[in-house]
Amino acid sequence: MGVFIERDGILNKVRVERRHQVSPLTLEDFKVNQDAVAPLKKLKAAGLVLIATTNQPGLSRGYQSRRELDRMHDLLRHTFPLDDILVCPHDETDRCPCRKPKPGLFIEAAFKWRLHLDHSFVVSDKWQDAEAARTAGCTSLLLPSQWLGNVHRDFVLPNLAAIAEKILTLKLTRRPVNV
Ligand SMILES: [Zn+2]
Repeated sequence: MGVFIERDGILNKVRVERRHQVSPLTLEDFKVNQDAVAPLKKLKAAGLVLIATTNQPGLSRGYQSRRELDRMHDLLRHTFPLDDILVCPHDETDRCPCRKPKPGLFIEAAFKWRLHLDHSFVVSDKWQDAEAARTAGCTSLLLPSQWLGNVHRDFVLPNLAAIAEKILTLKLTRRPVNV
């Protein structure tokens, strides 16, 4: 079983400009969300595979350097018990299969880590992840935010501790699958 965790707004803080989340572009601006440490450790201890996913169109648009992104992600790996970080570097106009709300990153992660998507979970504060979860067959658990939209989501819970508890409860009710 895997947990796909949106990066911006869950693992690191974001600035909000004109009602949009603005991804940090440098390590200096990259502020880790310490509230996520304990819940993620709990999930990891329960044997779940933890994978951060993120759309970073700045890579193809040219305003996000790969080197700086690597530095930020090194910090994430040092802070959280993450197994992997998967990035969509494309612009919307590239029409790639991996830019959320498309489910490509989840499908790639499932293949790489041998996960069953219908036994996996998506944690986010944005509708794009809920939509990708629905398409991929994952269970979505969201934090309340102004970015939830009207798409299907499975749970909205007040904080990451509650989300981790819910995932652990759901995990117990799922039948084990043969990989
Ligand atoms: Zn992509």
